Amino acid sequence: MDAGEVQLTMRKLWVTLCAATCAMMVAAAPASAFKVVVDAGHGGRDPGAVSAGGLQEKYVNLDIAQRLRTELQKRGYEVAMTRDTDVYLSLAERVEFTNEQNADIFVSVHANSHPSTSAKGSMVLYYDAAYPQSDYPSSAEMTTWSDVSKMLARQTLDGVVAKAGTENDGLVPSAVYVVRMGTIPSVLVETAFLSNRSDAALLADAAVRQAMAEGIAAGIAEYAALPFPDIMNHWAKESIMRLKEKGIVNGINHYFYPDRPLTRAQFAAILDRTFHFEEPAADPNGSCQKLANADKGSAKPASGVTVTSNVYGGSGNCSPVPASFRDLPVTYWAYETLMKAAKLRYMDGYADGTIRPDQPITRAEAAALLDRIVGSKLPQTTKSFADVPADMWASKAIGRLYAAGIIGGVSDTQFAPSRSITRAEISAMMDRYVNGSQKP
Ligand SMILES: [Zn+2]
Repeated sequence: MDAGEVQLTMRKLWVTLCAATCAMMVAAAPASAFKVVVDAGHGGRDPGAVSAGGLQEKYVNLDIAQRLRTELQKRGYEVAMTRDTDVYLSLAERVEFTNEQNADIFVSVHANSHPSTSAKGSMVLYYDAAYPQSDYPSSAEMTTWSDVSKMLARQTLDGVVAKAGTENDGLVPSAVYVVRMGTIPSVLVETAFLSNRSDAALLADAAVRQAMAEGIAAGIAEYAALPFPDIMNHWAKESIMRLKEKGIVNGINHYFYPDRPLTRAQFAAILDRTFHFEEPAADPNGSCQKLANADKGSAKPASGVTVTSNVYGGSGNCSPVPASFRDLPVTYWAYETLMKAAKLRYMDGYADGTIRPDQPITRAEAAALLDRIVGSKLPQTTKSFADVPADMWASKAIGRLYAAGIIGGVSDTQFAPSRSITRAEISAMMDRYVNGSQKP
């Protein structure tokens, strides 16, 4: 058996195994359940705030947190509790627990206290990168989630005030540990003031605690209903949403991560979903000449984006396509797409036998790959960016895509060819191609 046959046998085995178990796995655990970490503040030897009447915050927090869990589960969300009993947990332990959950959001439940007994009402704390505190630096992730955490804070506060009728004390940019050090959008809800007589009476009332839990849950539901909370204020939002509608781009669970670099596998998948490539003929090497010659192809289809095998641009590389790549196991999520991309020669492997699926793709590479597929149908014009000299390997591709209004520079004179392209930038590029050329 040669390497190709082994690969094929392994693949058949996987397909057989998968047929038996994957359907069951998919049915049993939908990957799309929105997951919330609910954190009841304080506990054990740490009572938190205490009202004049002796009501301890740790009990109030746990009761509201448990009610919140019930409300969230009713909505079909998955919930993980940092504590479900009267135990002490350090702040670091709460964050560590949360980081292990692969959850979508973190919500900490507290009750407030203030030396002035007249202070009352609800507020929600979140980490805001616009108000950094040098003595309390945030995790790198929380800086990027700043706007998203604020959106979650807004929804949560509106929910609790509307349901529980407490005074609205607003959103509070804060450096408290649990909203500053995690890896997912995080908020801390201060439900009401135990130091205030009327607020303490509210917190002592089970019906009000239930209303608070329902309000927080309603706010979370508003947030969870957003298609991708992390693109709501993003410049590429419209492009991303149009491509999502067409099934061309996906999020990663409930977020889109617009400013993360796009990987080679992700780009191959986007191209495959855009062009609906057919599996190539059994002998892809035999059709190499045709693929290479297709660069002289005719007009772009007037509508639709389905391209059939006789119009691929191809790389012009006619060396045999490997039967496998040593860094592409058959179980890799984009295995078939990448093998097809290699056979169709719009994405080549490397001389060392790899195809590097998780390697970020640069702006020049992304332009070159799209150009292999559509370039022959574009006006053959050039555009000189100061950082794309005419003899640069990707300059023709960049020029054609620029002239067609599919890709833009990072400024009038700069293209940044060797910078990783972001998921937002690729969405804008593909949107301009799919939904009509607009000048970038
Ligand atoms: Zn507290």
